[in-house]
This record gives sequence, structure tokens and C-alpha cells, in this order.
Amino acid sequence: VIITTMIAFWLLSVVISLYLANWTLKPILSAYEKQKEFVENASHELRTPLAILQNRLELLFQNPTSTIIDESENISESLSEVRNMRLLTTNLLNLARRESGIKISPEPTTASYFENIFSSYEMLAENAGKSFTGNLKLDGTINLDQALIKQLLTILFDNALKYTHDNGEISLDVQKAGGILIFTVADNGEGISDEDKKKIFDRFFRVDKARTRQKGGLGLGLSLAKQIVDAYNGKITVEDNKPQGTKFVIRIRLDNPITNPAKIFQKL
Ligand code: ADP
Repeated sequence: VIITTMIAFWLLSVVISLYLANWTLKPILSAYEKQKEFVENASHELRTPLAILQNRLELLFQNPTSTIIDESENISESLSEVRNMRLLTTNLLNLARRESGIKISPEPTTASYFENIFSSYEMLAENAGKSFTGNLKLDGTINLDQALIKQLLTILFDNALKYTHDNGEISLDVQKAGGILIFTVADNGEGISDEDKKKIFDRFFRVDKARTRQKGGLGLGLSLAKQIVDAYNGKITVEDNKPQGTKFVIRIRLDNPITNPAKIFQKL
């Protein structure tokens, strides 16, 4: 009986330690997997423009007597790949910095902050042959991290510009309701399927890799946007815009941004 009891206890302790090991190792392993996936994706994204660049430069060497004009296509393609890589590395750096915690630095903000943003978006939209409408419902002064919020709105505005056709219409509504600020960015572009809506906030996700790459898309914008919204303890949702296009709605709490960076890290 004593031996059977000892074996039973021993077996029980083995089962408990295995369970505990699994329980403690699981988050570490999943963080490691995420990190690995991130590095793989980033390397893959850098390999493509590097390969094109190498190819283009080799072509230049094949015709050493040709002029810059003769090779203008090669040179401009190379430049565009260099720009892609620069954008990618800037975004990666932003993400990495943000991951170690977003520090919110609120400043007193009035309507004029948004009016300035509206007028620069209006100009950018016009230059791209599209139209922009800004609507603002805000009285008095609120506390806002102006640089961070501008970055957030610009990610959504840039996407709306990129993914609408000629004569596309883009709107940004800003509304304060109690202690909550609501941003609505809508466009009448190509829209996003319900299946893809679930994935667009994942890093490096693009609905159509080849096409969005042409448009300079790297699939990092919305994951950055989500990190900013999370830092504000807020919510970002995506829905169809009626009758056509995409609508992003963001709600952020003005009174309760997260101040503990570790909390953001857990959410990733
Ligand atoms: P990207 O840099 O590729 O635009 P994002 O993370 O900002 O990366 O967006 C992820 C993907 O979501 C985009 O590649 C695009 O396919 C889709 N998307 C984002 N915004 C819009 C929009 N306004 N309309 C249509 N598709 C969009």
C-alpha cells in the first residue's frame, strides 16, 4: 500500500509539474513565436526590394557606355525600391519603439489643431485628384497627444487615399461625446471583405500583396494605428461604408490613457 501510494504521489507530482511547466512556458513560447514571425516577415519584406535593386544595378553595369537618360527607367525603379526600403525600415523602427511602450504626452488642444489637419488633408487629397471633407464637433479644450493622434489619423487618411479610385471621396469626422473622442474616417473606395477585416490589423497583412506593394503599402500602418489606440485605452473598428467603401471608427478615452507600458505589451 505504501509503495502504491508513493508511486501515485510521484505520478501526481510529475503531472502537476508538467502542467505548471506548460502553463509558464506557453506565453514565453508564443511571444518567441511572434518575435520569430516578425523577424521572418521583416526580412522577407526587405529581400524583395533588395533583389530588385540588385537586378537593376546589374543591368546598369551591362551597358557601361549608356547615359543616364538611356537608363532612366532602371534608375527610377531603383530609386523607388530604395524609397520602399526606407519606408519599411522607418515603420519597423516606429513599431519597435512603440512596442517598448507608448508614452502619451497630452497637450491642451482646441479646434484649430483639427482644422490644420483638415486643411493639409484637403490639399493632399486635391493633389491626388480626390476630395476630402472634415467635420468637427468640439467645444473648448481637450488634452491630447497631438503628434500621436496626427500619426493615427494620417495612417487612416493615407490608406483612404491609396485605396480609393480617381475622384475618391474621403471624410474625417471628429466628435467629442462626454469623455470620449470619436474619429470616423470613411472613403468610397474598393472596400474590405468581411474575411479580410479580421486580419487587417495584423502586421504585414495586405489584402492584395502585389497590388498594395505597388501603392507603397507594407501592411504595417494599421497595426501601428491599433497600438496607438490601445495606448489610449480605446477601440478601433472597421465596417463597410454605405453605399461603397470602408469606414474606420476610433473611440479614445480622454480621461484614461494607459500610462503603464507593460500593459500595452501584454495586449500585443
Ligand atoms: P498598408 O501599408 O499596406 O496600407 P495597412 O496596415 O495600413 O498597410 O493596411 C493593411 C491592408 O488593409 C492594406 O494593404 C489594404 O489591403 C487594406 N486597407 C487598409 N485601409 C483600407 C481602405 N481604406 N480601403 C481598402 N482597403 C484598405
